[in-house]
Amino acid sequence: MDIIKDSIRTIPDFPEPGIQFRDVTTLFNNAQAFRMAIDMLLHPWTGERIDKVAALEARGFIMGGAIAHQLSVGFVPIRKAGKLPGPRLSEAYTLEYGEAVMELHEGAIAPGERVLLVDDLIATGGTCEAGIKLMRRQQGVVVGCAFIIDLPDLGGRTRVEALDTRVHALCEFDGD
Ligand code: AMP
Repeated sequence: MDIIKDSIRTIPDFPEPGIQFRDVTTLFNNAQAFRMAIDMLLHPWTGERIDKVAALEARGFIMGGAIAHQLSVGFVPIRKAGKLPGPRLSEAYTLEYGEAVMELHEGAIAPGERVLLVDDLIATGGTCEAGIKLMRRQQGVVVGCAFIIDLPDLGGRTRVEALDTRVHALCEFDGD
């Protein structure tokens, strides 16, 4: 039994017809699966220096906060446009369903800081690419990207690896 994959619920046709929404709230709701997921997300980076954990709004924050706590490092939110109150950098990107802009507070990453980027799921990789670009615009070094779910048919891993960035995901689902 795969406790991680089996604890993820699929909601068909959400938020649009044809999308199979992979709902990780059922994983977060399961104490054993949540704890195991946090440990497994950290495992590949053992021995790497990580100075900050950055996560993508919104579900990435739930894992990112737990991972930052576990590593005793700072946490940096990458938020959708218009949410961050201070001076910020913006990156536009294309999502599996629609277009969006991600933002980062100026100075949230110091030059040379080594960052682990976290989100619940990688689909086309557009959101993750925007996050990597925001880190690099602050001269941050992205150590790697950690996801619970990869949708390999959508090519996100290939897109992110083409940016010279390591990708690790705990499970895969076919299709989109
Ligand atoms: P992408 O930029 O295409 O890699 O999309 C990744 C972002 O969209 C992540 O923040 C996911 O939470 C969300 N997302 C995309 N597709 C799905 C899906 N099928 N189920 C759940 N979340 C998704």
